[in-house]
Parts: sequence; structure tokens; C-alpha cells
Amino acid sequence: MEKISEIQKICLRRAIVFPTAEIYGGISGFFDYGEIGKKIKDKIIAELKKFFKEENFIEIEGSIILPKEVFKASGHLDSFVDPIVKCKNCNSYFRADHLIEEKLKIKVEGKSIEEIDRIIKENKIKCPNCNSELENVKEFNLMFKLTVGAENEAYLRPETAQNIFIDFKRIYFGYGAKLPFAIMQVGYSFRNEISPRQFLIRLRAFTQFEIEMFFDPKNENCPIEKYLDVELPILTREAQRKNSEEIKWIKVRELLENKIIKSKWQAYFLAKEFIFFTQVLKIDKNKLRFRHVLEEETPFYSAGNFDLEYYFDDFGWKEIVGNAYRTDYDLKVHMQHSKEDLKVENIIAHVAEPSFGIDRIFLALLNEHFKIDRKYFAFPYKLAPYYVAVFPLVSNKEEIVKKAREVYEMLRKEFFDDVIYDEGFIGKLYAKADEIGIPLCITIDYQTLNDNSVTIRFRDTKEQIRVSISELINKIKEIIFSN
Ligand code: AMP
Repeated sequence: MEKISEIQKICLRRAIVFPTAEIYGGISGFFDYGEIGKKIKDKIIAELKKFFKEENFIEIEGSIILPKEVFKASGHLDSFVDPIVKCKNCNSYFRADHLIEEKLKIKVEGKSIEEIDRIIKENKIKCPNCNSELENVKEFNLMFKLTVGAENEAYLRPETAQNIFIDFKRIYFGYGAKLPFAIMQVGYSFRNEISPRQFLIRLRAFTQFEIEMFFDPKNENCPIEKYLDVELPILTREAQRKNSEEIKWIKVRELLENKIIKSKWQAYFLAKEFIFFTQVLKIDKNKLRFRHVLEEETPFYSAGNFDLEYYFDDFGWKEIVGNAYRTDYDLKVHMQHSKEDLKVENIIAHVAEPSFGIDRIFLALLNEHFKIDRKYFAFPYKLAPYYVAVFPLVSNKEEIVKKAREVYEMLRKEFFDDVIYDEGFIGKLYAKADEIGIPLCITIDYQTLNDNSVTIRFRDTKEQIRVSISELINKIKEIIFSN
């Protein structure tokens, strides 16, 4: 836990991410982002949009509260449940499946509540807190229920996707869309997780970025050609059945030919995700894998799920992006329940969905780029919370401070709040800037007063170069955007 606890310490000290309602002892599963965290999160989202949003992708922002009918139709009301079990003595609640996984090292995904209950009883699994007996296993719905007005039952959305399905027709006609096309959304989703844990991994409120690609399965019309030779790290179903962690590098072409992936659009997203994570977020390719979700874990409506997992030093492999081939399930059930005709171009469109969990991706970025020896984040430049920090070499010499403020104002006009200003003991300022991953520090010193040049110091090498103020903006752009 060494790395993550160091990261968490910096997150608290620098107010990057910290517990919600901290002064009241917090509320489990909720975190607030301070400016630094929020800026990194926004940059991840901006890069995702730049990378994935094509001409035929339409972004929406839907309500986070939706009426009961939506979730009756989608199946969430009946089946978005986890098995829970309560201790007879200390009244603590636990995820029954997690207890079994931890104690017996077996997976119980897809098993019924009755089976899970039987396993707990047969193996005499006790409360991990007080070692007392446990009650019967029950189903627990993960949605937060609300009352809208005096008595209308509603829910906080557990995924952003549902807005997209219920808005499908309006968007299709409103924007003159043609299959294939995508609707995407970024925003909060809420799940009443029984045991939130592992910092930002299991939250009760988290940000998702979801893309629903609507297409005709008989004529997908997907620009897959350019990705056919991309090799992806796959944890196959066979490997998982043998309890093996062996990763196979398989070309997209082969995954499609062998029907391991059943839709070109799903393959398209998998390939693009791999390129995004390795090239934009600069994540080591050996710390990524696509886990082909086992049949028994795959939701009944899905024709195949692939979880993109990242290897967190202290938590092991965790899903950061869920990929589902949702077929025509969602539009079909909303058609049945709403009585609206959601057919377009004479078909019920099929859907391939990547679902990015932004908080987990944020934590993956922190984990990947944290340098434990110097305790700083070596973020890719474009994703750093600020590009540049401006400092006067000394804060008690008026001309130097004045000049430094001038340089800062000039840079702020160009880079807005990607530039910050600070004063103090220069060694400390550099250390503070490095800690949160600012790639460049600009220092105004005595020589600046003579020749209008400043130093640029590089975070990773601590190397310094001198640049004239008139060339500073171009130089910064060149460094930041070419990296
Ligand atoms: P899912 O719909 O469960 O496949 O979730 C899609 C993505 O949302 C996952 O890959 C995670 O990155 C993220 N996610 C799901 N549940 C949580 C949670 N409780 N806390 C944080 N992120 C989550």
C-alpha cells in the first residue's frame, strides 16, 4: 500500500481529491475534487473527446434524476442488485460475493442469491469484523431512490447510458442523423455500493463518459480497416477458466475473424482505447489488458463484454472501461414500455458501448506517473494541472517581483489558468511545483532586469535553459504540445 498511501497523502495535503463532508467525518464513497484534481479530470475528458468524437458523434447532457418507468424498462429495478449479508451481532453489512471470494478464493458471479447463501452457510463464513454468525443473504438494489414532488418515485441514474436511449429518437430526428452514429454523454452516475473502498475505485457517485454507437448489424459501416493490425492484450475466457493470468496479444483482425468480438464497432472501440491509453495517457502497455468477461458474468442482453483493466500497484487489476455489445436490447425494451416506435431506417439499431469511468482513469493516471523516489507526478505535459509556474527568484526585490508579475500576466493572457504564480523560497517553490506535476517553471532573476531573459526549468530533469521573454510563449507551446 506504499504507493497509494503516498499518493493519497499528496491528494489531501494539496487538496487534489479529499473526502466529501470531511469536517463532519466524511460520507463513505464520496469524494470532492479541488482545483488541481478537477483540472486533471477535465483534461482527461477533453482528451477523450478529442480522440473519440468523430463527425457523427452527438453529445448530450441529460438529467441525473429519471422516473421509475425508465428503470422498470431497462431492467435496473429488478436486476441491478448485489447480494448482501448482515452480521447478527454488530449489524455490519457486507457484499456476500466478496466475502466468499476473499475466504474461499472462488468466483460466484452469475450465481443466484440462494446459491450464494448456501455457500456462506456450508462454509461457515463468519463476520470479518466480530466473527459472529451472519444473517441470510439478500438482494440489494444499487440505485438511489428519491421522491420527486410529493409522491413520484424516481431514481438517480446508475449509468449515463439510459438518457441516451430515451433521447434516441429526438436526437436522431433533431440532428438529421443516419446510421451509424453515436450519442455520448459525460456526467455523474450514482450507485449505492455496499462497501465503497480503495479510494476512487469504488465510489457511490462517480463520473462516467459513455458512448452509445447505434448501427445496423447487417451493415455496420464501421471504419475498422485502419485498426485491423492493432494487437490487443487479451485475457481470454480460456485463460480465466484455467485460473491463468496469461495475456495473449491478438490482432483485431483475428479477434473478428474468430468471432471473439462479434461487432466491428466493438472492435473499433477496443483498438482506439488501447491507442488512447498507451499514446495519450502514456500508460505502459503491459499494465493494460482486455478481460473477455465470462459467459456467466455477461448480462443476458449483451453479446459480449470486454473490460479494459489497468494494473494498480496496490490494488491489482481493476476495470477502468467497460465495453458492452448491448445489441438492440435497450431500444427494444424502451419501445415496449414507452409504446414509442424507436425504429429508424426500418430497424431497431444495435448498440456498441464503451463506458469510461473517469475517476478510475484519473487514479490510473496518478498511479502510473507517480515517481515514488522524488514523490512527484511526471504527468504527460498536456494532462498536467498547470503547464507553467512563474516565480521571482527572490520576493524582497521589488523590480524582480514586478517583472515576474508582468511575465505572469502575459502568459495568463495566452494560457489562462494553465499558468500559476507564486512567491517564496525558490527551492521550495520548485519542489511544490514538481509535486503536482507542473512541467515547466519560469524564474525571473537579476539577469532578467538586464537582458529580458528568463529561465525555464524542466520538472523531470531539473535542467534549466534561458529564453528571451519575447520568445517565451512560443517556446512553452513548442515544449508542451510536442510532448
Ligand atoms: P459498468 O457499467 O459497471 O461496466 O461501469 C463502467 C465503468 O464505470 C467502469 O469501468 C468503472 O470505470 C466505472 N465505475 C463503475 N462503478 C464504479 C464505482 N462504484 N466507482 C467508480 N467507478 C465506477
